[in-house]
Amino acid sequence: MIVALSGGIGGAKLALGLSHLLDPARLLIVANTGDDFEHLGLSISPDIDTLLYTLAGLDNPDLGWGRRDESWACMETLEALGGETWFRLGDRDLALHLARTARLRAGESLSAVTDAMRRRLGVGPRILPASDDPVRTRLATDQGELAFQDYFVRRGCAPKVRAIAFDGAAASRPAAEVVAAIAAAEAVVICPSNPFISIDPILAVPGLRAAIAATPAPVVAVSPLIGGRAVKGPTAKMMAELGLPVTARAVAEHYADLLDVFVADPADAAALAEVGARIVAAPTLMRSLPDKLALARAVLTAAGVAVAAANPVAGTAR
Ligand code: GDP
Repeated sequence: MIVALSGGIGGAKLALGLSHLLDPARLLIVANTGDDFEHLGLSISPDIDTLLYTLAGLDNPDLGWGRRDESWACMETLEALGGETWFRLGDRDLALHLARTARLRAGESLSAVTDAMRRRLGVGPRILPASDDPVRTRLATDQGELAFQDYFVRRGCAPKVRAIAFDGAAASRPAAEVVAAIAAAEAVVICPSNPFISIDPILAVPGLRAAIAATPAPVVAVSPLIGGRAVKGPTAKMMAELGLPVTARAVAEHYADLLDVFVADPADAAALAEVGARIVAAPTLMRSLPDKLALARAVLTAAGVAVAAANPVAGTAR
């Protein structure tokens, strides 16, 4: 089993590549829930949803979030009624939140609901939240203490981040199976997600960091920074605000105690010589499906995981 830790967009791209190379039963994706929140009475899990939509081929390539073939009648009507519309929820996307919320209220765990949605959407590999208990990212900023979506969506990541906390993490338990899967894994992959707000909330669930540190499996992380820049999102800005160098090296050092292998873009690999992990240089920008497959293959090869040599790719749009 390959266990991949993932946030939303960057992580889901690599997870999609891995899903094309591995038998579905051989891949477990552990999703960040620090971005989750309750909004308009609905339970929303943005990173789980990005993974579900991306692996189901339903992601919205124009927006970079949400579902494709989306319509916005509910948001337009809500706006006319004076409701809150700063967090955009498309009509089809809303259906997933309605289904999830109803099942959670009926007493199902987030793991069980996520698994049910995964099956309904025809996604092969399993996706599990890091924890079924609420873990909520909160940021101390120059505009005060902010809940994650207030920072990320409502304020467009403009506030300067001073510190990051994960409310509920200390009391949370890892989702069933995750710790055992890590202990027995062939490899653990830390996807190219934001280390501070996508991967750290996963590692903050008691037992998960220790399980990754202890597993005999190789732990491979992929840099979300390329040439000192984030492909998307606030990773670079946040690192600067936290007083870190905005480099792949600083990402590798952030994970230092966990890593066996660090995969970075060839442009960055030279500056990584003394990091305490084996450095693998590979193109890490994933624009197309072949890019995702090539990086997933490089990651698996770096971890010593055998994959079939030729995998015909149907379509290259994503
Ligand atoms: P979010 O929860 O949707 O913000 O998702 P993630 O944390 O998974 O993704 C954001 C991170 O993914 C940013 O740090 C980006 O630099 C990184 N990212 C996005 N696309 C790519 C890519 O094609 N290659 C690499 N290496 N990183 C990427």
